Amino acid sequence: MAPLFLILVSLPLLTSSGEDPRPLRREVYGGGRIIDVTHRVSPESLVWGNGGAGLGQYLRLRRSIKNGNNTNSSVMNLSVHTGTHVDAPGHFIDRFFDAGFDVDSLDLDVLIGPGLLVDVPRDKNIAAEVMESLKIPKGIKRVLFRTSNTDRGLMYKKEEDTSFVGFSSDGAKWLVENTDIKLVGIDYLSVAAYDDLDSAHIEFLKNGEIIPLEGLKLDNVKAGLYYVNCLPMRLYGAEGSPVRCVLIP
Ligand SMILES: [Zn+2]
Repeated sequence: MAPLFLILVSLPLLTSSGEDPRPLRREVYGGGRIIDVTHRVSPESLVWGNGGAGLGQYLRLRRSIKNGNNTNSSVMNLSVHTGTHVDAPGHFIDRFFDAGFDVDSLDLDVLIGPGLLVDVPRDKNIAAEVMESLKIPKGIKRVLFRTSNTDRGLMYKKEEDTSFVGFSSDGAKWLVENTDIKLVGIDYLSVAAYDDLDSAHIEFLKNGEIIPLEGLKLDNVKAGLYYVNCLPMRLYGAEGSPVRCVLIP
């Protein structure tokens, strides 16, 4: 009986090649039709300001089949600024926080639509002259800025690195005053350079129109025009949310 029993229970778990089934983990779907630019959230994920410990066990199985429940059901515990995420105006501006400018209030018409992936000059912050040199045409509403943060793989390190590049406050101000960009994407946890962390964020958030999109995974994606799709969770009261962000060439 034993061998037969084994065969019966193990059959559905076998793939046609006879190996244990494993989920396919992809960065690109549909043969190149959809490019995932979201970093995977895992216990190894970088968390700002926790001494390189990583995110750790952010999931807890509250009910489990092994414990006699009919389902596995987890609860999660993580910062809304984990991994690839958006900031709402309330993140840096308290009167916006109090007034309810949360991620639920973000404009989906900004988060979805045509956008440019551009390479910025390496190893310097995105200052006004850098913005000017990029010559981003008027009318472009969404731009993902790829920097040396991607080359250096900073998002894959558990330890935070304050030498990342981002917008200086004059770069942010230049963008606000001279372009139509409303979605500002970057490849590290902050759109703002470390030395201008507050001031550059505030430049972007003060009018309640621009959405910073942070922690993008832009390795091995060609610069150019894409259809950008970034959807945060609809979290009432939250000043940020993880997003799933994909590009369609
Ligand atoms: Zn953030």
